[in-house]
Amino acid sequence: MGKVTVVGSAAMDLTVHVHKRPAAGETVIGSRLYLSPGGKGANQAVAAARLGAETFFVGCIGKDGYGEMIRRNLLSQGVDVSWLEDTDACGSGTAHITLSEADGDNSIVVIQGANALVNPDLVRRAAARLKESDVVLIQNEIPADAIDSVLDCCRTCGVKTILNPAPAGGLAPETLLKATWVIPNEHELHAWFPEQNLEDVLKAYPGKVIVTLGEQGAVYWEKDAVVRIPSYKVEAIDTTGAGDTFVGALGAALSEGQPIKEALRFANAAAALSVQQLGAQGGMPVREEVEQLLK
Ligand code: ADP
Repeated sequence: MGKVTVVGSAAMDLTVHVHKRPAAGETVIGSRLYLSPGGKGANQAVAAARLGAETFFVGCIGKDGYGEMIRRNLLSQGVDVSWLEDTDACGSGTAHITLSEADGDNSIVVIQGANALVNPDLVRRAAARLKESDVVLIQNEIPADAIDSVLDCCRTCGVKTILNPAPAGGLAPETLLKATWVIPNEHELHAWFPEQNLEDVLKAYPGKVIVTLGEQGAVYWEKDAVVRIPSYKVEAIDTTGAGDTFVGALGAALSEGQPIKEALRFANAAAALSVQQLGAQGGMPVREEVEQLLK
């Protein structure tokens, strides 16, 4: 079993279902409110833990009801929360999602809350945890200086890192290149390299940049060619959190020393299973399910 540490965001997602999203100044009556734990950091930690990695979460929540729910959820999924701090300074991170039942479209407001306090000081306090990890995962939902601190600390002590630059934008190219692996989707890749085509970017960063392509799986560059790791053909019901399942699973596989090609097959299988159920964390598979699909 490998050791995976995730430094990142944790949030409570509050989804209201409405027939039609309200226009400016309009009030509409929703049909229901649905609470689910989210945040890319927490999602990826849950994905890795469900797949059998010894998983630690470094992050920050508010001393409020949502924070308690976030903590309890991570614990129930087997994630070690010893490095999850809580604060009086602000509330827990939340995402406010309005989902239209008429057309499936949504609009989302994110309140960063305590996730903004995942800063270089907190990273310093968790340095011992980072040093003892096989793989450290980071996303783009915490302040940029914290991301840099994590990557610098891991580079100094030789710990491998996966940076998932999601959501897109705002990260300096130097930051991205400090990570052992960078895993953007197509949209995030475009935000990073707006002028270049996919193959040119892969070729410029062989083995480092791995791009996820939705139902087409993932690609990277090796020796003198693009390597394509195809996904599994499934009936997708909800692709929310597909990328988080993919990155968490990849972290779990790499932490066990699996070679990259094998680890990507494992991640594709886990993500393909996750899109067959509703919700970001809801569809995340356990180890046996992935192994069954890989047979
Ligand atoms: P994101 O969820 O971040 O937008 P992608 O859409 O690229 O990222 O999906 C991430 C991974 O999830 C893909 O590489 C693939 O393994 C898996 N995946 C996504 N959509 C599907 C699908 N329709 N069928 C099977 N696998 C999928």
